[in-house]
Amino acid sequence: MNEKKQFIAAAIDGPAGAGKSTIARTAAKELGFIYIDTGAMYRSIGLACLNKGIDPGNAGAVEALLPDIAISIVFKDGEQHIILNGNDVSDDIRTESVSMAASRVSAVPAVRAFLLELQRGFARENNVIMDGRDIGTVVLPDAQVKIFLTASPESRARRRTDQLAEKGIQADYQAVLDDIIKRDYNDTHRETAPLKAADDAVLVDTTELTLPESIDAVTSIIKEKL
Ligand code: C5P
Repeated sequence: MNEKKQFIAAAIDGPAGAGKSTIARTAAKELGFIYIDTGAMYRSIGLACLNKGIDPGNAGAVEALLPDIAISIVFKDGEQHIILNGNDVSDDIRTESVSMAASRVSAVPAVRAFLLELQRGFARENNVIMDGRDIGTVVLPDAQVKIFLTASPESRARRRTDQLAEKGIQADYQAVLDDIIKRDYNDTHRETAPLKAADDAVLVDTTELTLPESIDAVTSIIKEKL
């Protein structure tokens, strides 16, 4: 008999800067799962538009660019690297202008359809923790674990400013906060796959939690399902 191996999928969704990627990456390491950062895929498409001088808000132009885009993920020392048309863009996609471009292109239905199969493919073949905005609702609606990770916009802006400062990038707190509020608005108001908690998601609010506490909260929710 050809028995199919059952893989575990944990979907972690939530707004920008809630700590999803750090928490998901660390939890995945601890559990031996692979971590898939779907935001990096939207960022790569945003970067591709900026590189080509295409307005990320111009749905027709963005859609027309998709056949020229190849995105893949490779793992180096357990870390995810994102490859856009043969180039490792893992660092280039972390700027504020790419964040905003990602938020704009992510509202284009053709972009979401383009990335959906790539994302589902990982979950068919691996135990995954996948983070994004629509993982529990659209990409992996049958995920065994769904977590909606959130925090107040102010604490998210503070953390992001600190993170950037650690990398030697001086960012203005107010500008980061404005950016987060704008991206929250875009992400929750778009028509296709808007950011929202799945009905069966566990809500984790990290506003008052330290990073180790947040990681603990997420790993114990996942472990309960193993
Ligand atoms: O998570 P991150 O901030 O890297 O995501 C960048 C942008 O990509 C988000 O603002 C959001 O608009 C979009 N995104 C999305 N769906 C996902 C992941 C990210 O729309 N699953």
